[in-house]
Amino acid sequence: MPSMEDTQAAWRQLKQALHHHEIWYANLIRTLACRLPLDPRDLAEDAHRHCHFGQWYYHDDSRAFHISPAFQAMEEEHKQMHLWAARLLRQSQQGAPISSHDYDAFANSLDRLRLQIHTLTEEFENRLYRLDPLTGAESRVGMLTHLREMHELSRRGTRSCCIAILDLDRFKVINDIHGHLKGDQVLVAVVQHAKAQMRPYDKIFRYGGEEFLLCLPDTDLPSGEALAERIRERLEQIPLAYDDHNPIFVTASIGLSLLDPRISVEESIDHADKALYEAKSAGRNCVRRWASAQ
Ligand code: GH3
Ligand code: MG
Ligand code: MG
Repeated sequence: MPSMEDTQAAWRQLKQALHHHEIWYANLIRTLACRLPLDPRDLAEDAHRHCHFGQWYYHDDSRAFHISPAFQAMEEEHKQMHLWAARLLRQSQQGAPISSHDYDAFANSLDRLRLQIHTLTEEFENRLYRLDPLTGAESRVGMLTHLREMHELSRRGTRSCCIAILDLDRFKVINDIHGHLKGDQVLVAVVQHAKAQMRPYDKIFRYGGEEFLLCLPDTDLPSGEALAERIRERLEQIPLAYDDHNPIFVTASIGLSLLDPRISVEESIDHADKALYEAKSAGRNCVRRWASAQ
């Protein structure tokens, strides 16, 4: 998975390519309307490869967008749009009136390209702003909406969903000893290790500074407890960062509850929070579930 920094850099490059594309379009219209000398590069067969947007498209090393269907679809549309633009420029250069059919074909192609670009940027913005910039966990913004959806599914019957709150133990001390930057590295590693234990449809949200909320659909309390225990064990065993080659270890306490269909989402979170409190009181580095916390 690319880092958040790479993702943000890829995003800036896309924004820049779009900006250049709009400048190209404004210049094209100006050239046509005022019958200015044209840029011969716009007449080339492969103009779409050499314009600023094309340079971004064919040389985007981040490959951050390549899996998107909108990204794949826009190659052909971008090429067609340039072919129509070249046709308009040639007509203008020959002093002939521009055919309305050709102009409409160009404008429609441009509209379709803009729609594809819009789809791509929306998809990407969602990805970018849904995630916590430091750790890559889901940000808190969409957490309640997601939990309410899961709550609704469990209210309709068969599927139970577990939530867990994971809080790092004595994390303030980690910062005090190793510095905030190392603390940050630990947070990133915690999320990576937790994710490695989770299934693709489980989610981890950054709930607070060093607290994470895990949402585990199709999971009852015993299975949720087993998963939480695996995560806890792994964190305990693995160095999460290094300070001058010295490994930094961190443990976590985890409180679990069911996303109970009979009570509100907020109450279920409160139950997980109380279970977490029990885990802290029991000496930390352990898992407690709400049922046993009563
Ligand atoms: P406990 O076992 O009771 O949870 O102890 P704790 O020290 O983890 O708890 P406390 O709430 O006292 O401190 C949380 C610490 O987490 C303090 C804060 O500086 C640190 N923290 C919160 N967010 C971040 C962050 O983004 N980066 C770093 N490095 N530290 C953070
Ligand atoms: Mg803590
Ligand atoms: Mg805390």
